[in-house]
Amino acid sequence: ETEIPDDHPRYASLVTRHRIEAGVEQGITSKQGLIAQGRGEAFDYLLGERTLPSADAAARAAAATLLLADRPVLSVNGNVAALAPSETVELAEAVDADIEVNLFNHTDERVRRIADHLREHGADEVKGLAGDGEIPGLDHARGVVDADGIEAADVVVVPLEDGDRAAALAAMGKTEIVIDLNPGSRSPRTADVPIIDNLLRAVPNMAAHARDLADATPAELERVVDEFDADAALDDAEAAIREGSFADGDDE
Ligand code: ATP
Ligand code: MG
Repeated sequence: ETEIPDDHPRYASLVTRHRIEAGVEQGITSKQGLIAQGRGEAFDYLLGERTLPSADAAARAAAATLLLADRPVLSVNGNVAALAPSETVELAEAVDADIEVNLFNHTDERVRRIADHLREHGADEVKGLAGDGEIPGLDHARGVVDADGIEAADVVVVPLEDGDRAAALAAMGKTEIVIDLNPGSRSPRTADVPIIDNLLRAVPNMAAHARDLADATPAELERVVDEFDADAALDDAEAAIREGSFADGDDE
């Protein structure tokens, strides 16, 4: 990472690629994770690699939702672990959430490596290895979760979640917070709180909002949640992509 001069115009993007490559080399990130990264990068480019005000409002609503939760869980996959391990641990601490490793392509070996990686970045307890619970309606391999983790959660944060699993979690009655750069993907469209932003920006932003809201009353937190409009946030991100820097110089 240190080889990239930090005044490089695409510094953040290059650092991200290096982290994902390192994640694959360490057996943390899957090869499919590389493809997901490429898709995310394309959308981030179209969004101008910035946090839209609507995405910031979503991050604040997500923080309030997590602070109001009884059993919040942050779901971590190979991309999240490679890109934002410390940020994820800090968010878990800020909202008192559990961390559970949950992989689309589950292997015990990869779950163990990710759990170790998160512990190296400050996590004390990491769930996901028990695998004694399930998300109904999915193939067994796709639906494995911990009974006292995601299965029992009332609020789950699922960054970069696949659309089928996002829908199955919603069908279980979970309140879902999805981080995804593609406003047209099914997963954010299923979410109660879709955050259309790079997880590298969104996770620390959620933690900052959580610290800011730490002394808010439940009524104040509920107001933050109620004022957030998921459909409007998705529409706003889509409009930003359509009208973004690419439109400059066009007829408008
Ligand atoms: P579905 O409609 O089932 O959700 P999908 O095509 O979105 O399908 P994936 O191939 O898993 O499913 O896509 C990965 C998603 O993760 C993409 O929408 C991509 O934009 C998003 N993504 C990748 N990297 C990041 C990142 N760093 N931050 C936020 N989102 C990301
Ligand atoms: Mg998706």
